[in-house]
Amino acid sequence: MKDILIQGLAEMGLTPPSGAVDKLCRYSQLLLEQNQVMNLTAITQPDQIARLHFLDSAAVLAYGDRAGLEPAPTKAQRGLDPTPTWLAGKSLIDVGTGAGFPGLVLKILEPSLSLTLVDSLGKRVNWLHEVCEVLFLDGVRCLHARAEELALQPEFRDSFDLAVSRAVASYPLLCELCLPYVRVGGKFVAMKSVESNLEIASGATSVERLGGRQLEAIDYPIPGAGVTHRLVPVKKISPTPKGLPRSWGKIKKTPL
Ligand code: SAM
Repeated sequence: MKDILIQGLAEMGLTPPSGAVDKLCRYSQLLLEQNQVMNLTAITQPDQIARLHFLDSAAVLAYGDRAGLEPAPTKAQRGLDPTPTWLAGKSLIDVGTGAGFPGLVLKILEPSLSLTLVDSLGKRVNWLHEVCEVLFLDGVRCLHARAEELALQPEFRDSFDLAVSRAVASYPLLCELCLPYVRVGGKFVAMKSVESNLEIASGATSVERLGGRQLEAIDYPIPGAGVTHRLVPVKKISPTPKGLPRSWGKIKKTPL
């Protein structure tokens, strides 16, 4: 696992901070142990966990800034080791994080991230608390909540630099769950398959109604996995109107 991660991250242009790869290996052990008693992942081979969970999650860090919102590191910053990433010091919310993907991987690779993990399944959230303790991760909130309800609270609304989500809902629905969290000028990055063209096109109204502007999708290969996945970035250009997001029943029944 360690070699796959070191090589894969390097291929993605990422220099992990010291100790990060060991933390990912420990995270994988914790995941496999807990998966015996709780349904956390269908992927149970360590090499596949490395590629399809960890390297895939790392893609947000490696490629998520390509849509041109974030300034490149300055010359002085580039001289530092490791080079500050575009997520340095940012606040990020991972909606429907499950076993912590992609949020927890991003936190391990960019420790200065202020991270909020949200999931509607309490057992998973309790386990995420334990993982953060074992891995000595500070600055992580693990919240047991439904995303569409939490986003109605003023503290969470229009406030995060970045929202991310993987494998939670179709794109139009996901936009309603995630965009309300993002501050004006921030971004929502949906992690999707490359088969998502129709889904993305059908989310155009949803993006607009929620105060977003769709940016160009970024397709990326996962090193060693033989598959290409997609990041779909959306810039937040105006606050999400009152009344959104709606209840899950309405979101599902009548996408915006
Ligand atoms: N993001 C993780 C990943 O890529 O491995 C987990 C994906 S899992 C298929 C979907 C997760 O989203 C589940 O853990 C589920 O409990 C959570 N979820 C679904 N709807 C949600 C909602 N409305 N609010 C919060 N969490 C939700």
